[in-house]
Amino acid sequence: MSATVNALLRADLRDFGGYKSARSEALTGSVWLNANESAWANPGDADGRLRRYPQPQPEALCARLAALYGVAPAQLLVGRGSDEGIDLLVRAFCAPGQGRIVIAPPVFGMYAVCARLHGAGIVEVPLCDGDAGLRADLHAMGDAALENGASLLFLCSPGNPSGEWLPLPGIETLARRLRGRCIVVVDEAYLEYADAPSATTLLADHDNIAVLRTLSKAHALAAARVGCVLAAPELIVALRRCQAPYPVPQPVVDATLAALEPQALSATLARIVQALEWRDRLAEGLCVLPGVRRVYPSAGNFLLVRFDDADVAFSALLSAGVVVRDMRAMPQLGDALRISIGAPEECRRVLAALAVPAMEAAA
Ligand SMILES: *Cc1c(COP(=O)(O)O)cnc(C)c1O
Repeated sequence: MSATVNALLRADLRDFGGYKSARSEALTGSVWLNANESAWANPGDADGRLRRYPQPQPEALCARLAALYGVAPAQLLVGRGSDEGIDLLVRAFCAPGQGRIVIAPPVFGMYAVCARLHGAGIVEVPLCDGDAGLRADLHAMGDAALENGASLLFLCSPGNPSGEWLPLPGIETLARRLRGRCIVVVDEAYLEYADAPSATTLLADHDNIAVLRTLSKAHALAAARVGCVLAAPELIVALRRCQAPYPVPQPVVDATLAALEPQALSATLARIVQALEWRDRLAEGLCVLPGVRRVYPSAGNFLLVRFDDADVAFSALLSAGVVVRDMRAMPQLGDALRISIGAPEECRRVLAALAVPAMEAAA
C-alpha cells in the first residue's frame, strides 16, 4: 500500500472491501443468471442496452478518459461528477465526527458541504486579496493542515470563484511537505480554460496528490454527471470501495464516449477557444463601465466582478433576463457577482444590461 493511503485511510475501513456486486466477480459464461436481472428487455428500451447492470467502472470509458487526461486507467476513478469524487475522498479519509479538511474560502462550496454532512471539521485559510487577484497561501494552508491534523487539503485551480490558476511547483512543494500526513486535492474543473499543465504530471512522484476532473464544464456534459478522480492506484482502490456498485449509468457511458469521439472533441476545443476570446472581450467591456470596481483575472470560463453597488447590478441584469451568480454571501465578496462566459450574444446582453444603471447614474 502507498505510504499515504496506509497512513491516512480511515482505521475502521482498513479491512473493508465494499459491496461485492455480481458484476465485480471475474466469471465467464454464456448464460448470465447471477444478478437477478430480467431475462427480457423493457419494451421501451429499443436496443435492449438497459437490461443488464453496467460495468462498475466501464472499461471503454475509463480507457478513453485515462487517455484524455494522460494517466493510466489504474490511476482513474470515474463517478457521478467530480462532486462524487469530493464526497468519496471525505468519506474514505476523514473519520466521521473527527476528521478535518483545509479549504481556502471563498471557494467552491462542495468541499465544506461534504465535510459537514460527514461530521468532519473545516479549517479555513482565507484567500488573500491583492494586486494580482485573490490568491491562495499554500504555505499557510500547509501549516493549517499540520497543526490541525487534517487529512485532506482542497485546492481549486483554476479557482472558483477566484479565477486563480496555481503553478505546479507550489503544489509540488506543498505535497512534498505533507507527504504521508495529508492528501492535496487539486480540483481542476476549469483547467481546459487555463491553457496550463495539469497536476496529474505530479502524480508519478507524489502519492498524496489527487486531481479532480469533470466533463461538466468545458465538455458541456453537466447533465450527464461524469467526473474523475486521478491519483495513485492504491488511493483509487480505496475510493472505489466506498463508491456505489454501479455509479455510471449505461446511457451516460454511451453519450460520453460519443462526446469524446475525435470530431466532437475538436469541436469542443474550438468552443473553448471561443469562450476564451469572449472572456477577454467581456472583461474589457466590463472594466470601462462606471460602477464596476474590479474585474479579477480569470483562468476559468467566468469572471468575478466587484461593483460599487452589486445590488443595482444584479437587479439590472435580472430585469434584462440575465441570471448571474450572486456571490455576496461569500466571505470577502460582499460586492461581487460571478458571470459565466456565455455565447457571444449572451455576453453582449450582459454588457448592455450593465450599461443601463451606469447611464442612469450619469444622468
Ligand atoms: C462545477 C464544479 C465542480 C462540479 O463538477 P461536477 O463534475 O459537475 O460534479 C467541481 N469543482 C468545481 C470547482 C466546480 O466549479
